[in-house]
Amino acid sequence: MLFGRKTPFSATDAFPLSEAVMEFDDSSSATVRPARRALDGVGSRGGRSSARQQWLQALALIGLYGLALLGFYLLGAVGLRELAVLAGLAAVGCAVFWAVFRFGLYRKLRHRHLKLAMVCTALGSMLAVVYLAPVTQLLLAPFAFVAVAYGIFTVPRSTLLVVSAGVLAAYAGVVGLHYLEQQNMVLLRLEAMHWLALATSLPAFILLTGKVQRLYRSLYHASRKIKNIQEDAQRDPLLGCFNRRYILAALEEQKQLADESGIPLCLAVLDIDHFKRINDEMGHLEGDEVLRTFARIAQQGVRGGDVFGRYGGEEFLLIFPGTSLLPALNTCERIRAQVESHAWSDSLKGRVTVSMGVTQYVLGESLLEFFSRADTAMYLAKEGGRNQVVVEEPVTRGDSMLPEASVLPAHP
Ligand code: GH3
Ligand code: MG
Ligand code: MG
Repeated sequence: MLFGRKTPFSATDAFPLSEAVMEFDDSSSATVRPARRALDGVGSRGGRSSARQQWLQALALIGLYGLALLGFYLLGAVGLRELAVLAGLAAVGCAVFWAVFRFGLYRKLRHRHLKLAMVCTALGSMLAVVYLAPVTQLLLAPFAFVAVAYGIFTVPRSTLLVVSAGVLAAYAGVVGLHYLEQQNMVLLRLEAMHWLALATSLPAFILLTGKVQRLYRSLYHASRKIKNIQEDAQRDPLLGCFNRRYILAALEEQKQLADESGIPLCLAVLDIDHFKRINDEMGHLEGDEVLRTFARIAQQGVRGGDVFGRYGGEEFLLIFPGTSLLPALNTCERIRAQVESHAWSDSLKGRVTVSMGVTQYVLGESLLEFFSRADTAMYLAKEGGRNQVVVEEPVTRGDSMLPEASVLPAHP
């Protein structure tokens, strides 16, 4: 069947999991087959909504801690000063991270998500509040687990262990300062017990979460593999350009878009001339190389939004979304001339040419009619002596657009 599938076209319909796990290491995710994407003008979806989610998540966690501290204040355990300090630290921290993201400074960093910095800021701020109000040690342990859990998917376990050692050292310092300032033995014993509880449980928690990290990591790699498989499924294995399935699905999608919006759409059928002879005389391997070079020339000759793919054998399709006949014809003529004038090897010089038929979509017609008109134009190009572009122009009769029977050779 010529046009079988319903909108499998969008190359950005990646496995949904991949977006969720991309945050694992965004420095490497940016390198997923960028060359091919750049070649085809296919970009990746922006991470704006993901960034918004990250902010909401971080603000919600800060809010929870603030809520707990507010409860302490209402219970008379802490004063306004502690609340003000927390609000100030949160405001400064958020402003700094916002500026780092807003002005693109994070791009200079290896781990662009800044999770480690966020975890350290949160832990440092909580220790500052503990210094001011020893009673908030009740909050330190549970929220230290929350902070570590926040970074667990992105920050390596060994780094988290180092961070926890740093936090415990700083916490011990705060306990020491409290004793120096207050000489309160009861407080010291209480704080030492809190410290011991955290010192024994936090590293254990980090070690146990290693399993979660491993699971997350394998999900990430699996999703990348799926993405690559999805990309390969759209590609011709010999030539690297889009394959028949993809190009036909793209054509169907563009037809629907044209029907909905009324924007012009053109299609060209390309067929290498006397390719069988090249195969017969030079062998199939050389023939394959000619196909590869041809596909590269054509791909480089098309504009950003155009879609080029192999229909089968030595036949190709070129879709021109949002393009009327004249610019489509110009692109075809440019590609034809580039194929003809390419620096082919001596044995191929003057022998590799291409015939093309190009036509414009008539609103409401079937894909088969549209395709057949371009195909007929290509055969007319063959009949006309090959190495030429023939355009089959639809003409308006009354309200309906009908194809004109005559053809317009673009190249003598
Ligand atoms: P025309 O100018 O009329 O198009 O003549 P042609 O020789 O190009 O057309 P024909 O259909 O007679 O031959 C096409 C040839 O393309 C036959 C087939 O063996 C060859 N072919 C198809 N796919 C491949 C491929 O992947 N590699 C190679 N080397 N040859 C291929
Ligand atoms: Mg041919
Ligand atoms: Mg052919």
